[in-house]
Amino acid sequence: MKKLLTICLLAFAITVCAEDRVPKNIILFIGDGMGLSQVTAGKVAKGKLEMERCPVTGLVTTWSDDSLVTDSAAAATALSTGVKTRNGSLGLAPDGKPLKNVIEYAEEKGKSTGVAVVCSLTHATPAGFIVHVLSRKLDSEIAGQIAASDVDVLFGGGLNYFNMTNNPRLPELQKKMTVALTAGEFRQLGTPEKAAALLYPVHPPYAAERAVSLRELTEKAIQILSQDKDGFFLMVEGSQIDWAGHKNDATNLIAEVVDFDHAVGSGLDFAEKNGETLVIITADHETGGFALLGGSVEHKTVDKTGFVHGNHTASMVPLFAYGPGSTVFSGIRDNTDIGKTMIRFIQTSE
Ligand code: MG
Ligand code: ZN
Repeated sequence: MKKLLTICLLAFAITVCAEDRVPKNIILFIGDGMGLSQVTAGKVAKGKLEMERCPVTGLVTTWSDDSLVTDSAAAATALSTGVKTRNGSLGLAPDGKPLKNVIEYAEEKGKSTGVAVVCSLTHATPAGFIVHVLSRKLDSEIAGQIAASDVDVLFGGGLNYFNMTNNPRLPELQKKMTVALTAGEFRQLGTPEKAAALLYPVHPPYAAERAVSLRELTEKAIQILSQDKDGFFLMVEGSQIDWAGHKNDATNLIAEVVDFDHAVGSGLDFAEKNGETLVIITADHETGGFALLGGSVEHKTVDKTGFVHGNHTASMVPLFAYGPGSTVFSGIRDNTDIGKTMIRFIQTSE
């Protein structure tokens, strides 16, 4: 009996310590515009969400340096650098000074890095993890900085911005990595050390129409990045939850949350097997002031919804975490705490 108790206590201690360890790999999932109602609607429609596999939950405040209501550029900067900046600004402090981001810290540690999104790679959320630009509107400048970066996996849309006649960046990318321009080419990628997929001229369509799903992008990104014995950082974005929110389109909003959740599942599958991977799932802000007003849990339907308006709100967003390092995300955190903590983990990882 005493022996059994000791074994139980030991197992408990190992489990607790496991959650306090510094992770070797970090996968950050961002549902753009995914507030608590968006997650709830996804759950009603899907039944059980992959996100629910996470034992740690928290809430995140999202305001920016100059506004209670953040935009995706300032929010991405807070998550990637741990510093709040002005709305519209990417990877620069309010005074215009460049801020080192989690990808740059990971590269310094010899880790592989990547982004996988369902929007143009030049759009605010992915760009906020790579570039240092005063305005999110400068797509050509952003494409230039992305092409010049050392990021190992670049999956998304935005081919046009890398293919501008006066400023072509595609040859630069092709010189240093395998580049897929179609779904067929994407599926032939194999596992090179570095790869890009520019699958759409600008943005992909909504989930049902996408030739390559976010889950496929996530799986391939993990396959490629996990070859690095030093570990990796990957950011995956469910980019269009936000866009459906701006349009007050509940049907596509819910479909995008469910699609994002499928991708989350592949990240958690890897983390469960790998044991050295921290998975964080959160949002950059809420969009629309979305509310669920009627439907059926039994029939998995959401019939009646409301939106306050067609823009972002300042509501706290949910956070889910799994794996080594996850417990520190419990409670109410600011978006900058997520960036600071990821950077601390990367700096202290072996
Ligand atoms: Mg976004
Ligand atoms: Zn938005």
